[in-house]
This record gives sequence, structure tokens and C-alpha cells, in this order.
Amino acid sequence: MSIFKELEHSCAECGTGGCGVPSRGRPEFCTSDHIPPVVKEAAMAAYDEGDNRKIMQTAAQVEYEGYCRWPRVQEIVEFAKRMGYQRIGIATCNGLLKESGILAQILRSHGFKVFGIACKAGMVPKTDMGIDEACTAVGCNMCNPILQAAMLNTQDTEFNVVMGLCVGHDSLFYKYAKAPCTTLVTKDRVTGHNPAAALYTSHTYYKGLMGPEEKK
Ligand code: SF4
Repeated sequence: MSIFKELEHSCAECGTGGCGVPSRGRPEFCTSDHIPPVVKEAAMAAYDEGDNRKIMQTAAQVEYEGYCRWPRVQEIVEFAKRMGYQRIGIATCNGLLKESGILAQILRSHGFKVFGIACKAGMVPKTDMGIDEACTAVGCNMCNPILQAAMLNTQDTEFNVVMGLCVGHDSLFYKYAKAPCTTLVTKDRVTGHNPAAALYTSHTYYKGLMGPEEKK
């Protein structure tokens, strides 16, 4: 089923995005022409599971109505309202407690019930997890994304908002959270939580990001 061997290029090398805007054309290697029918059929069938179709329709409506006008936090409010959610969880990094407080205030002002849980809640020492003691230089207690998910699951949240969880910690949160999740803040301590900045400058200031394969 893997098409990695057949294709030297994928959507990541496309640049036209003609699958979204037909007038831009599609490259010869277009991934759309190589998707196994069984994979596409299974994906399309999955939209009939649970709330998936409603999520798609609602997200499209929010995208359309707020296009280039609503900030993401407003999109979250509008999406949650239209989905009929009442209980919203916030999984926050300890470093973003202030911003999570503002988010909770905004959500509550729209009538949502909000439960937030910080990454360090539970206060488990990093060394209990077998994490290298050197890592305690940036904090003695571990982030606990599985506990964050478990607590929000216990609160029966219908929708969860991620606020700056670390790379990998966010992966575990998404894996264990039962409710659908979205991300408001993607943590990047160096760029003011704008990770795309390092991509925009990857041929200038951040050219050191390229690995040895690129230089061959
Ligand atoms: S599906 Fe085709 S047109 Fe769309 S991004 Fe991928 S390669 Fe480009």
C-alpha cells in the first residue's frame, strides 16, 4: 500500500496546490492520481462515523464566514457554538497560564463551561519517569499530558483546546483525549509561538535547520 517507493515527490514538493485551486494546475506526480481507491473510499466512509460529517460541515461554514476576518480564537468560539458543545477543556502549558485564563474568560463569556488543566498538574517528578536528571534544570516536575487528557475525559469535555503543549507531549494528549481537539497555541519558545517563522527564514537566519542530506 505504501506509495513512497513509487513517488519521488509528494504534496510537500508540489507548490501549486491545484487540488484546491484547479486553475493553478497539478504537477505530473500529483498525489491525487496515486491515492489507492480503497484508501479514499475508506476515508470517505469514515465521515459517516459519529459527528465527523457535522464537524466537516461546521468547520467549512466557520472558515467561509470568518475567512481572513476572524482570529482563530473566534473561530473556536463559533465552531463550538455551532457544534452545540457546552463543556470545553483547556489543556495548557504552565508557561501559558495567563493566556489560558484569558481564553477561559472569553469562552465563559459565551456561555461555555470551561475546565482547564496545566501540564505540571499532579506534580510528578521527572526522575520518577526515568527522565535524565539533567532535564530538571528546566523544571523539576514532568509535563503530564496523559493525566491532562484523563482529567478532561473525566470532566466529559466535548471539545478540547490545546494551549502550547510541548512537541511529543501534545502527541500523547491528542492520543489519549476522548473529545475532539483543536490547537489555539503551538508552542515555540524562540519565535513567540510562531513556528512558521523558522520556515520562512530557513534560507536565511535559520539555514542551519537543514540537515546533511540537503547539502548532498
Ligand atoms: S494533490 Fe496534487 S495538486 Fe494537490 S498538493 Fe498534492 S501534488 Fe499538489
